[in-house]
Amino acid sequence: MDVTALPSDPRYSVVGSNHPLDARQKELISIAESLGPRFAARADHYDREASFPHENYADLKDAGLLALCIPEKFGGKGADLRTYALVSATLGKYCGSTALTFNMHACSMLWPGALADELEMTAEQRAEHERHRAIHYGRVVRDGAIYAQPFSEGSAAAAGRAPFGTTAAKVAGGWLVNGKKIFASLAGAAHYYGVLCTEAKPELSMRDTLYMAVPANAPGFTIAGDWDPLGMRGTVSRTLLFKDVFVSEDEQMMPRGVYFQAAGRWPHMFTTLAPTYMGIAIAAYEFTVKYLRGEVEGMPPVRRRMYPTKQIAIAEMWVKLEQTRALFLRMLADARIDPPKDARLRAYAAQYSIMENANALCALAIRTCGGQSMLRNLPLERLYRDSRCGALMLPWTAELCLDRIGREALYESGEADD
Ligand SMILES: Cc1cc2nc3c(=O)[nH]c(=O)nc-3n(C[C@H](O)[C@H](O)[C@H](O)COP(=O)(O)OP(=O)(O)OC[C@H]3O[C@@H](n4cnc5c(N)ncnc54)[C@H](O)[C@@H]3O)c2cc1C
Repeated sequence: MDVTALPSDPRYSVVGSNHPLDARQKELISIAESLGPRFAARADHYDREASFPHENYADLKDAGLLALCIPEKFGGKGADLRTYALVSATLGKYCGSTALTFNMHACSMLWPGALADELEMTAEQRAEHERHRAIHYGRVVRDGAIYAQPFSEGSAAAAGRAPFGTTAAKVAGGWLVNGKKIFASLAGAAHYYGVLCTEAKPELSMRDTLYMAVPANAPGFTIAGDWDPLGMRGTVSRTLLFKDVFVSEDEQMMPRGVYFQAAGRWPHMFTTLAPTYMGIAIAAYEFTVKYLRGEVEGMPPVRRRMYPTKQIAIAEMWVKLEQTRALFLRMLADARIDPPKDARLRAYAAQYSIMENANALCALAIRTCGGQSMLRNLPLERLYRDSRCGALMLPWTAELCLDRIGREALYESGEADD
């Protein structure tokens, strides 16, 4: 593997020049860069077929990136949230669907890993968690297992406003899971589905959220519905049905009650979809520069850069890209447990800006490059369609980010409605 691969022009790297990176981060970003061109070459195929990028996952496995967020003591690369985000955004430049699904897998490793290490647990919970995560991590490091992260149900639960309707009833040796998840990326490709569900009690409570991995071959677990969406077609985000699915104790990804604590204390855990779209924004800009310079591979070398309207358009794109990237990098610098209020508000602002600006940049790129750029033999129209999905993704959709900023800017914690 060529780990020295970096974009020849730092404008198109996720961090740009002169950004502080440690040796490990440089190495991991280089690995992602070295995989990128292969992913880009395959992206059109997976997009047209709306099929899962299995070849890319084989490459991710060979490169050791399936273990990116697994702590080193369990045999992984030990990436923290910031390092994960830089790698993920790098992948996003080349194939949105691969980066987005990689988010689901990598964060299934990160949340029980570096994030959970900082959460409060009793000694008993800590010991139990250590035992359980060793099982999950072993599967990934040893066997290349892939984990999905199906939370959405089409209710207020994925927005963090109600308990999950998928329930888990305690039985001897484990749990019986019943319910339904929609938009489950990696459906049919994952070996384990890390579901959020609520402990079955007479009154469901968000405090009783459980996070556990359902094996793909568990009796009672089925995948339903078709998948033919506008964008992010390679994510294959279909519906999952759970009918009295027995899930053993050992499948817990976090001890009882700990996910609820994480969601409250580690808000940046919900920003991890944004790097994919940061990557798409960079790709749209890079394409436009190359197109206007007549440097797009496979296209006649026609230059369009001499027109003042094109120069203004690319200037506008650069301003928007740099605004977005600056907020992205600041958000990553802020990410920690119990961040102060301004950092949380900034995280919402960053998520909102990345999701909205990625789509705005793609739209501007198509308008600027013109009709030929929206033909399917070029990547821009796929970038445009993929970029449309970011603002819709729960729990931090663009709308909900505005909701939260508005509310939290005007009310302090614990203050009641007027
Ligand atoms: C390509 C793709 C891949 C995905 N992969 C996954 C995955 O792997 N796992 C997963 O869990 N989900 C996944 N999702 C689902 C995604 O996160 C959302 O849950 C899904 O798009 C919500 O669709 P919906 O129409 O049911 O939203 P609804 O719940 O109907 O919400 C519609 C909009 O209303 C707003 N809204 C929702 N609830 C509230 C509220 N309480 N108050 C105010 N406004 C609200 C939000 O802005 C939301 O966008 C994926 C989505 C896409 C597009």
